[in-house]
Amino acid sequence: DTVFLNGDFLPADQACISVLDRGFMFGDGVYEVIPVYGGRLFRLEHHLDRLDHSLAGIRLENPLPHSRWQDVLEELIKRNGGGDQSLYLQVTRGPARRDHAFPPVVNPTVFAMSSPLGAPAPELRQGISAVTLEDIRWKLCNIKAIALLPNILLRQQALDQGSAEAIMTRDGEVTEGAAANVFLVRNGTIVTPPKSNLLLPGITRDLVVELCARHGLPCKERPIDEAELLDADELWVTSSTREVVPVTRLDGAPVGNGHPGPVWERMVELYQAYKEAFRRGE
Ligand code: PLP
Repeated sequence: DTVFLNGDFLPADQACISVLDRGFMFGDGVYEVIPVYGGRLFRLEHHLDRLDHSLAGIRLENPLPHSRWQDVLEELIKRNGGGDQSLYLQVTRGPARRDHAFPPVVNPTVFAMSSPLGAPAPELRQGISAVTLEDIRWKLCNIKAIALLPNILLRQQALDQGSAEAIMTRDGEVTEGAAANVFLVRNGTIVTPPKSNLLLPGITRDLVVELCARHGLPCKERPIDEAELLDADELWVTSSTREVVPVTRLDGAPVGNGHPGPVWERMVELYQAYKEAFRRGE
């Protein structure tokens, strides 16, 4: 595997960073995950715009202009054999004497790597089970921060209870999943919480909203009361690597009739068509 680190392409096992890196010390950094289909970066500008917002949120300048990011990522894709991949990129505030205050001179660490990306596991199409858990994160969840302890603990808590995802609620409202955004369907209307500092503006979420608008599916961005989860006809979670996944059991009870719903089926059709058109370069 070839990775990119601070200007160089090198084998993953030769890439080294300082133990004093503020990413390692404090989780002082941000990241992105970008799917690659047929060697092409999916929704690249959306991801780079979100990266800009995340960096601005932690008061770190983007070390590379978008055009340079694109060159680096495209080179990384080539060196890892093209095709379908999942790219991970990370920017931290770099190495510095350990002190909470920002260092006077910042040398950010810029890292990117590639992981294999298969089609989402077929069993996901049967629906997954999820549990509702209290959102124990901080209040800047719109920043894609590398500090993921709450997400990790919640995901593990879900797994320990035999579920694949945690759906988080804060003050009685649904925020998002531990690593995904949340949609529900009720009487044919698709609903997802509005963007705010309490959730990550998912690139997949935005694409789903866009596809609804383009194809005339009723879709509302509005707060979702926790209680609405109980009488939802359908529940989905969305993310770049898992795409649109139906949640068919919540807290041990069936969602709707307990099977993936017709609105989900339609959305997956639209999503796949969009993705395949992109793959063909249309
Ligand atoms: N929300 C959280 C907390 C995430 O970690 C992720 C991605 O992993 C998402 C939402 C979905 O974002 P995207 O669609 O950009 O992958």
